[in-house]
Amino acid sequence: MSSENINTDIAIIGGGLSGLSLSILLAKEGFEVTLFEKKDYPRHKVCGEYISLESWDFLERIGIPLNTLNLPIISEVYLSSHQGTSLKSALPLGGFGISRFTLEELLFQKAQQVGVKVLTKTSIVSYSDNAVETQLGVKHFANLVIASYGKKTNFNIQVKPSTGQKYFALKWHMNADIPKDRIHLHFFEKGYIGSSQIEEGKTNACLIAAQELLENSENNIDQFMHRYVFKNKEAKELFENATLLFERPLSIGNITFSHRYPSGSNLLLCGDAAGMVAPLNGNGMSMAFYSAFLLAEQIKKYRKTPESKTLISNEYEKIWKKKFRNRLLVGNWLQHASLNNFAIPTILKIGKTIPALLPPLIKLTHGKPF
Ligand SMILES: Cc1cc2nc3c(=O)[nH]c(=O)nc-3n(C[C@H](O)[C@H](O)[C@H](O)COP(=O)(O)OP(=O)(O)OC[C@H]3O[C@@H](n4cnc5c(N)ncnc54)[C@H](O)[C@@H]3O)c2cc1C
Repeated sequence: MSSENINTDIAIIGGGLSGLSLSILLAKEGFEVTLFEKKDYPRHKVCGEYISLESWDFLERIGIPLNTLNLPIISEVYLSSHQGTSLKSALPLGGFGISRFTLEELLFQKAQQVGVKVLTKTSIVSYSDNAVETQLGVKHFANLVIASYGKKTNFNIQVKPSTGQKYFALKWHMNADIPKDRIHLHFFEKGYIGSSQIEEGKTNACLIAAQELLENSENNIDQFMHRYVFKNKEAKELFENATLLFERPLSIGNITFSHRYPSGSNLLLCGDAAGMVAPLNGNGMSMAFYSAFLLAEQIKKYRKTPESKTLISNEYEKIWKKKFRNRLLVGNWLQHASLNNFAIPTILKIGKTIPALLPPLIKLTHGKPF
């Protein structure tokens, strides 16, 4: 164990989307920022890789040149069920496709460029509100400690899950012939698979389903795909007509969702660490960026006040609840509805009869550009 002590102004635990974007915002304001990331860049991550357009301007503003990347802009959604019903609808704001591999690498490079000290392969094993300790026993003291370690970490801080239901997820990159401007969501019993284009004409396919389906399939992905996913004819056709670019899918398990900012935490929480929205909304990444933006605003506002820590913490929690609570409630309700065998066909039937109903429902799960 090392007994080395290091000082920094702001310590950020976790270099995913919220941690990286927050570090860039704060470094640009002149703060000395150290970001601790347990893995390395670039890396693939299980994700739908559809980002709501509300984040486009923000990313451009912090120096990510999206305009130069020729990314697919997605303006409609196509839904299908395993009972054979389908529906197309406009997406009120829409989104764009980019892989996590590329996006996080661009953010990582930008963070370093603006002076953030990014320590990769560095896991934080303990913390307080003014210090963090790495797996090597190095202690970093900081005026502010921010947790952006995502939905799961090695700490014992738990966001209260809204349900006991656990999900697992799989992701593939593939070459497939799907329209550039459309996201497909193919529902099957207790899950769905989403597919849409990312950079360089590739397609990302990401599946999320109730964890028990995999257990019912002897934890065998092939068996699970045939038994559940391919019951949806269009999901089956997606795989039949695609060339897979990964040898096997990336996977994660034990996913739960929450809608409450965890009270009593002595850390400032950003992104999924504060509350995770169900992926069906296609909005988690934008919420991660937006929460980083909101937290940076509070830090800038109160940085010179004597009671700054308490003020930042109280004001940020208030704003977080105002901006995200309803979105999380609606989004997580929709995710649970998608597990119900009757809900999706019913939504598709109603959507077909009254097409004007779907866009406002989608709108409820999204925010506005910031
Ligand atoms: C299956 C699935 C599909 C999704 N699809 C979409 C989608 O299509 N569109 C969308 O907008 N959102 C989607 N999301 C949600 C989105 O991925 C998250 O909301 C977003 O990644 C949150 O960013 P974050 O920075 O809070 O967390 P993360 O991106 O998870 O980053 C957390 C980081 O902290 C690091 N870390 C954790 N613990 C420690 C530690 N102790 N020390 C150091 N580092 C640590 C991790 O390695 C990680 O890099 C999806 C989520 C899932 C699960």
